[in-house]
Parts: sequence; C-alpha cells; structure tokens
Amino acid sequence: MTMEKERVKCLIIGSGPAGYTAAIYTSRANLHPVLYTGIMMGGQLTTTTEVENFPGYPEGVTGSVMMEDMRAQAERFGVDIRFGTVTEVDFSERPYKVTIDAEKEVIAETVIIATGATAKYLNLSSEQRFRGSGVSACATCDGFFYKGKDVAVVGGGDTACEEATYLSGICNKVYLIVRKNYLRASKVMQHKVSSTPNIVILYEYNTEELYGGNAGLEGAKLLYRKGTPEERELDIKIDGFFLAIGHHPNTEIFKPYIETDENGYILTYGKGTHTNLPGVFAAGDVMDPDYRQGITAAGSGCKAAIDLERFLMESGE
Ligand code: NDP
Repeated sequence: MTMEKERVKCLIIGSGPAGYTAAIYTSRANLHPVLYTGIMMGGQLTTTTEVENFPGYPEGVTGSVMMEDMRAQAERFGVDIRFGTVTEVDFSERPYKVTIDAEKEVIAETVIIATGATAKYLNLSSEQRFRGSGVSACATCDGFFYKGKDVAVVGGGDTACEEATYLSGICNKVYLIVRKNYLRASKVMQHKVSSTPNIVILYEYNTEELYGGNAGLEGAKLLYRKGTPEERELDIKIDGFFLAIGHHPNTEIFKPYIETDENGYILTYGKGTHTNLPGVFAAGDVMDPDYRQGITAAGSGCKAAIDLERFLMESGE
C-alpha cells in the first residue's frame, strides 16, 4: 500500500501553549500552518485544574478551557488543526519527511517541534485518583490552592527543592520526601531547604499510598528504609502531594537528527528557537528544562514562529 503524501510549508507538532501560539503567529503571517495535536490534545495544562497565573484571565481559568480558547483562536486564523500523532521522522534532508500515525507522510519545508514534556509520576493507583484534587506535578501552578495547609513534595533534585521552597512561602508545613539519604540538588538548593524552618526533610522514605475522601487528599502512607530490618511506617496528614521526580521531554523520535542535551531536551542556538537543522525550530517544554510554564511556552512558540518566518524570508522561499 502506498502512503498518502502531502506537502506543507509549515508543520507544527504539538498542541500545548507553544504549538498553538506558533500556529497563531505563522497563520497570521500567511504561512498556512498545519498543526498535529498529538494524543494529548491541549498538552499538560489540560491535566491541571485552575490556571491563575496566565495573564489575561483575571478570574482564573481551568487548564482545559484555556487550551480550548487557544485552539479556537488558532482556528479563527485558519490554522489547519488535525488530530494525529507523529510516529516517525526523516530529517536527513530538506524538505523534511514526517509520518503521521504510521499511515500518512507530510513533506514539510519547515517544522516547529512543540511536543512538550511529560511529568513523571510514581505510578500509584491512588495518585491517579487524586489527580487534580490533591496530586499535582507543578507547585507554581497549583501551590496557591494549598495556602496555610500541609503538603508534601517528592524528589531530591533541584526541582523538588525549588518546589518545596516555593510552597514553604504559601503553606504551613512542607514535607520533602527523599528516597535516598542525601539530596541530589545543587548545594545552594540543599542549603535553602535545610535552613527553611517549615520544610521537613524525610530522608530514605518511599510513598506507599495516598488516601482521602470525595473532597480530596487527606494523607500519605510512607515507608522508611523499605525492605530493611529498620523498615517502619509513617503516616503524614497532607492536603497536597507534589511530584518533582523529573520530566521526560517528548523527543525520542527526533533524536537521530536533532541535537539534545543529556536529558533529552532539544538544544537551541542563538537567541531563539533554532535547532541544529535549517528550518526546524523547537518551542516550549521540549527545549526548556528550567521554566516550564504555560506563559513561557507560549512565548517561545511566538519566537519559533518569528524565527521560522525570518528563515523563509532570508532563504528567499
Ligand atoms: P532530577 O532528575 O535531577 O531529580 C529527580 C529526583 O527525583 C531525584 O532526587 C530522584 O531520586 C527522585 N526520584 C526519581 N524517581 C523517583 C521515584 N520513583 N521515587 C522517589 N524519588 C524519585 O530532576 P529535576 O527535575 O529535579 O531536575 C532536572 C534537571 O533540571 C537537573 O539537571 C536540574 O539540575 C535542573 N534544574 C535546575 C534548576 C535550577 O538551576 N534552578 C531548577 C530545576 C531543575 P534519586 O536522587 O534517588 O535518583
């Protein structure tokens, strides 16, 4: 069976704030972008509840409504939005070949990769149950809802320490649950968490289960030195449980062609969003391990669109 083929000027992969913003800008620049949404239409923000820190929504907005708004705005400018996932790419030469759902080939003159990152979870069944009602992977997004309450952060890296420090300014008490007997975070962050009075570091603890009722999370059962003679249980009463055990950038299929750092994040060059390949740009969490906010992703989607437009202009295409 021969695969259906289609040539496009500008292909955008991903439907988070970076992808939709890039789509709005490239469409208004008359580049006729085609956007493939990926399986998780709307991206990570659709998994959070209320978004209160994205400018333009004075009363706040749910993540899914905000992403619907972005999609509607992109559609208003004629973006061709398609539900589909990129399953393979061949970036060995321009124009670039991109396979959608293993059944269609898009030949793209330019590409914006905005496939985002996925937060890692512990994979406890109770974690799923309280997602959005106690369990979160973003303190900056959701910390405010736990004002004056007790919460826990899991992880021992820079993110965990940063999230714990951020939450310590909002919450009553913050448990930092670390599976080893040391923190992997930088010295400065280690010092920060150890010297913050309302952060309690629980070394060598693993989370076994979360519990609560219909109103949300009420606590967590932890195990100290699991599997050793010193093993013992600890029950902590918490309203919020924040995962900070790392993210996976969604870059696997691009890695044979696109340069990434050691954690898989796409490397960009210059001031903007240029990758190592001409006409391929990266925007949002897929290239940003540091900020990971909806607004910064949207900002980099805008940069990618402008970089792409300039690239086409400079190459006379
Ligand atoms: P890291 O991979 O550095 O740390 C992940 C942490 O989560 C580790 O302590 C790890 O434990 C723990 N962990 C992983 N899986 C589990 C599990 N199943 N159960 C319990 N704990 C688990 O990720 P970060 O997101 O913290 O950082 C990613 C990168 O971004 C790093 O290079 C970091 O330095 C950087 N960063 C820099 C910042 C800054 O400079 N301001 C801010 C945030 C991140 P263990 O140590 O046992 O493996």
